[in-house]
Amino acid sequence: MPEPLESHVDLSTLTKDERLARMRHSAAHVLAEAMVELFPDAELGIGPPIDTGFYYDFRLTRSLTPDDLVWLEDRMRKSVKGKHPYRMAAIAKAEAVDRWKDQPFKLDLLAELEEGNVTQCTHAAFTDLCRGGHVNHTGEIGAFKLMSIAGAYWRGSEKNPQLQRVYGALFETPEDLAAYEQQLEEARRRDHRRIGKEMKIFELFDEVGPGHVVWLPNGATIRRELQRWVEDLEIELGYQHVITPSVAKRELYERSGHWAHYQDAMYPVMERDEEQYVLRPMNCPSHIMVFASDLHSYREFPIRIAEFGNMHRWEKSGQVTGMSRVRIMTLNDAHIFCTDEAMVESEVAGVLRLMERVYGTLGLKNYNYRLSLGDPENKEKYVDNPPMWEMGEALLRRVLNHVGLEYVEAKDEAAFYGPKIDVQFQTAQGKDETLVTIQVDFHLPNQFGLEYVGEDGERHRPIIVHRGVISTLERMVALLIEECEGNFPLWLAPQQAVVIPIADRHIEYAQSVAAQLKALGLRAEVDARGERMNAKIRDAQMRKVPYMLIVGDREAEARAAALRVRGGGDKGAVPVVEIVERLRRERDEKALTLWD
Ligand SMILES: [Zn+2]
Ligand SMILES: [Zn+2]
Repeated sequence: MPEPLESHVDLSTLTKDERLARMRHSAAHVLAEAMVELFPDAELGIGPPIDTGFYYDFRLTRSLTPDDLVWLEDRMRKSVKGKHPYRMAAIAKAEAVDRWKDQPFKLDLLAELEEGNVTQCTHAAFTDLCRGGHVNHTGEIGAFKLMSIAGAYWRGSEKNPQLQRVYGALFETPEDLAAYEQQLEEARRRDHRRIGKEMKIFELFDEVGPGHVVWLPNGATIRRELQRWVEDLEIELGYQHVITPSVAKRELYERSGHWAHYQDAMYPVMERDEEQYVLRPMNCPSHIMVFASDLHSYREFPIRIAEFGNMHRWEKSGQVTGMSRVRIMTLNDAHIFCTDEAMVESEVAGVLRLMERVYGTLGLKNYNYRLSLGDPENKEKYVDNPPMWEMGEALLRRVLNHVGLEYVEAKDEAAFYGPKIDVQFQTAQGKDETLVTIQVDFHLPNQFGLEYVGEDGERHRPIIVHRGVISTLERMVALLIEECEGNFPLWLAPQQAVVIPIADRHIEYAQSVAAQLKALGLRAEVDARGERMNAKIRDAQMRKVPYMLIVGDREAEARAAALRVRGGGDKGAVPVVEIVERLRRERDEKALTLWD
């Protein structure tokens, strides 16, 4: 009997994270124990803890089914009841190689271990290669549930055999597990990929490419509303809109530094007749060209150049997701050219105020500001210019304090050329994502030798503020769908009203009602199909149309419509002039809620 390597551990003395890590690791052993009973020839991969539970990879003679998961979970619970202690043992490498000779993946792992470092763990009748970190016995593994089966390559490489991965959720208490399951359910309910498909907002096609979003008419409507609104705000705030090409010569990005620092995220070079072009990954160099098209005087500053610009980023095909992570995107981008730090401060403050205004109108609440700093040690990732970093970081800190916004600071999260303020959003999936950034940049003006004529008549170098507000249209629409579950406020709803005639003889009146709405630019249609009225109402509810106007004999006579509101409200007969006026106002005010 080998000497035990792990002594009794009092779980209550550990932090919650440490306890969970031990529970999850220990549960993976129990899953493998169950699997080996179901498939005595199962080849075992690895089974690490993850932040919601654990998984284990197996090579099996057939594909696992949902019924298998039920059986395995049941078998695991038996092991839990048995309260089997986990016993660690050291073993000579040669002995281990013999012991695991039928387990190719374990042999692969063993090959990397040095003599004297080989340990294994036994509980009940099951043994696994393991470095330790368990609870005392199987009775202590907490509340768990097997969740799903997925494919996974050995060591994550497509060149290796494909294994079946079983995921389990594991938390300390049944209450924590239930809360996690509820959160998953909520995320599923809000998932923009499902809602986007149901509402015909966007589509993704294999033939078009992963991460290449096709905006359907409904999505294009939402996008157009957002873009027009933001462009109008920008015009009001003194931005000048430009249109620049999304393809440029490779030299442009060599000069900007993207080629050196950002090439991995770029599409490959297009070459023909000895010319080399790339799809732009960012709009900055294009806007710098706009600035450089003229010799500016200090009197013109700040110069705010804006564009809904297309960008192309080579995300791994396995990593693109719906509209929230894509390869081709349109950013609400702007570059503000400033003369000095004081101007930078007031411009950044202006951008922060614009953000607050825009997110307020959109009803977004789950966000906070993050001051993202560089890392002076990391000369590879960041431009090496310590005084520039210090100045930029201090400046952004001052503005955040001045505007009075709460924020957190995070090291090693900056752009390669400078520190930034990130707007961090909590998604419906429970993830923290950077939506947009504000960056202060002393670097690109140097790279491009930018100059303006100062008050003294001399040439000076401007400073650039890079900023987004509503992020990319792709990400913002994904976020909005998940925030409102597709129940858009009136101004963004792809279809704002449906007029439903009760019988064919009411179609003409229905069309006159729709015409009155359309005359004010409201998106209204008549559902003249031969379906029953209730089916049409149900259909409009499914499409999440805010207002349904039902018209029959009585309504036609009274110049009215029976008004139904999305979500169930029934207003009864309302004069059409009143409905039209109400909807127009609601749209113009960008009201977040419907008529209740
Ligand atoms: Zn272990
Ligand atoms: Zn930029």
